[in-house]
Amino acid sequence: MKICIFGAASNRIDKVYIESVESFSKELAQRGHSLVFGAGKDGVMGAAARGFTEGKGKLYGVIPKFFNDFDIEVKYDKCTELIFTENMRERKAKMEELADAFLIAPGGIGTFEEFFEVLTLKQLGRHSKPIAVYNVNGYYDEMYTMLDMTIKQGFLNEECRDIFFMSDDREKLVYYLENEHDTPYTIYDLKK
Ligand code: AMP
Repeated sequence: MKICIFGAASNRIDKVYIESVESFSKELAQRGHSLVFGAGKDGVMGAAARGFTEGKGKLYGVIPKFFNDFDIEVKYDKCTELIFTENMRERKAKMEELADAFLIAPGGIGTFEEFFEVLTLKQLGRHSKPIAVYNVNGYYDEMYTMLDMTIKQGFLNEECRDIFFMSDDREKLVYYLENEHDTPYTIYDLKK
């Protein structure tokens, strides 16, 4: 299946994030999966790309044309296919359309935005693809706590906890990504 990985563009992060994502990505490629990603060569994105290359998987990089024009992006140069889009919105839509599942790796606000978009779309019944959060080094613990508070205070339905899966255990993440394609909930359970 095609797994879309969202993750940091920054290189200024601890190497534990880079190494974990690179080796997990290699493992996913060896299981026959392909990568959909932002086509960058830096940070966690670059780690995912190198991992899929090492594991001999296919890589689909999706990139807005203006990144090329202004040379603001250092592209990973071993993509199987580069797909150019008009803008960032179209790029995100393309990544979401191509993917069979999403893996959220540690990242900054760009990654948060991507996670919350695919989560919101799933809550609203626009897709039913697995959304896994790779919680390397407890990076997403506080985000989970924030979502808990959001549920406790009535801003989010309890059932929404079950439409994504967060763990640092790769075996569990792989199982979820490969098998959890059905949600028992309807839009009325998730957003009422
Ligand atoms: P951030 O987590 O803020 O570093 O943003 C990274 C996420 O946003 C990635 O998953 C990308 O899809 C997107 N993104 C942000 N900046 C870039 C960039 N320079 N190159 C490619 N993708 C980027």
